[in-house]
Amino acid sequence: MVATWTQGQATPAATFDTLNPATSEVIGTFPVFGEAEVGQAVDRARQAASWWAGLSWKDRQTRLMAWKSYITRYIGRLAELVHTETGKPLGDAQLEIMLAIVHIDWAARHARKVLGPRRVRSGLVAINQASTLEYQPLGVVGVIGPWNYPVFTPVGSIAYALAAGNAVVFKPSEFTPAVGGWLVSSFAEVVPEQPVLQLVTGGGQTGDFLARSAVNKIAFTGSAATARKVMAACAQNLTPMVAECGGKDAFIIGSDADLDAAADAAAWGALSNAGQTCIGVERVYVVENVYHTFLDKLSERVSQLRPGEDREADYGPMTMPSQIDVVEKHIADALARGGRSVVGGIASIRRPFIGPVVLADVPEESRAVTDETFGPTITVAKVADLDEGVRLANDSRYGLGGTIFSGNKKAAMAAARALHSGMTAINAVVAFASVPALPFGGSGDSGFGRIHGADGLREFARPKAITRQRMKPMVNLTSFSRTDQDMKKILSLVTILQIGRASCRERV
Ligand code: NAD
Repeated sequence: MVATWTQGQATPAATFDTLNPATSEVIGTFPVFGEAEVGQAVDRARQAASWWAGLSWKDRQTRLMAWKSYITRYIGRLAELVHTETGKPLGDAQLEIMLAIVHIDWAARHARKVLGPRRVRSGLVAINQASTLEYQPLGVVGVIGPWNYPVFTPVGSIAYALAAGNAVVFKPSEFTPAVGGWLVSSFAEVVPEQPVLQLVTGGGQTGDFLARSAVNKIAFTGSAATARKVMAACAQNLTPMVAECGGKDAFIIGSDADLDAAADAAAWGALSNAGQTCIGVERVYVVENVYHTFLDKLSERVSQLRPGEDREADYGPMTMPSQIDVVEKHIADALARGGRSVVGGIASIRRPFIGPVVLADVPEESRAVTDETFGPTITVAKVADLDEGVRLANDSRYGLGGTIFSGNKKAAMAAARALHSGMTAINAVVAFASVPALPFGGSGDSGFGRIHGADGLREFARPKAITRQRMKPMVNLTSFSRTDQDMKKILSLVTILQIGRASCRERV
């Protein structure tokens, strides 16, 4: 056992164990936080929030940079814990931590520039006013996380919320509380003064208590089904939320694409982390004249991959046992509807592992094409051109990420723009997740709102508009002493300015 609960003052009524998914060995025991304990954590966070918000931008940045350095120094320990608790290979655990570090760094460095006070133009009508825009912290943000990327995903909300000046109460997935606990303890090492980042553990009900508590915003990452429940809970207090949900990302290959690179990227995008990736590749659409060549290359690449718990394994076990049933149903449904298995099939399921599965000619209405599978499976379909690939990709209730492989830059950019998703990578897979300046999020059942980048910082702040009268106005319009003559003057000014501008534009 590597983890037990030490933080907080509340006495837990019940506990739960977290297990190594490959061996079912108990990793740690954690309390189930009830309504009162969650409320107490939010109360403590409220006080911490005013201390944290009262620090200067520079002081917060220094502390966040210290947290980043701490995680970097102990990346080996954290990666071991991620590996043990999720089953993913050590290299993949290190990769997600590295990406999280890059995001903490970006959020810390850019918070002041994005959110700090700035002067904006007042315009001719309000020329006597000095106008200032700034983004103030919300207060306490509740972060509810998933288990598949237990560092990268919650840090995408936590780092940006903290950099914006908020305190955070974090409920990690019940499958990864030890990793969540490590993150919170590491922050307390570098910011010992106040509980600016706290941990509450438990299952769905603990998350529900957090959504119903006095937090000022919920940052939820998980399935669309749970997001609906969280939104309903948030509705009680009109608590806003950002929802980062699942996807059914498409990977579209044009006839002029580098097929070796495409096969390698599709294999990794679909199978790394056992396919348990929100922006993982789930559907591949290939232009017909390269379809067979691509399928051969993909099959060859994928057949060499092996799940396991040993250090040489390409990917690990399914972290959540119930997801194996979903994957099994999707494969069975695809085959029953006339789909063809090119690599693997139902027999690839050897709990808790699933070998690679490539399915071809799967009807578009199959669950393997319409629903998030979240397993190491890929469907490959033939399309006439990139446009048809985009059309089929867009025929989905999800809209998270996506990939285009093409040798034609202009066509690839046009297809990327046409995809109804929040993010698209061209000639590489999931590259957008590694660019901290880019916003991350989706639409439809993939959720709403954004983490990462400037939008991710603004997600955790409220815009504040301030005007300061610098001199008396030519005509005081907001006074009962205003005369008809005053109104005439201002109307003729507006008419000259607005009609004058419009006719100038028309002449141009
Ligand atoms: P989940 O929806 O089952 O759980 C997510 C979190 O919500 C967990 O912490 C859980 O305890 C909590 N929860 C459950 N019921 C709740 C309730 N009623 N009220 C409040 N909280 C509740 O999802 P999961 O299985 O942990 O994660 C997998 C899903 O997450 C997939 O759909 C995946 O695509 C998605 N995901 C999305 C992103 C993204 O950034 N868009 C990133 C990672 C994972």
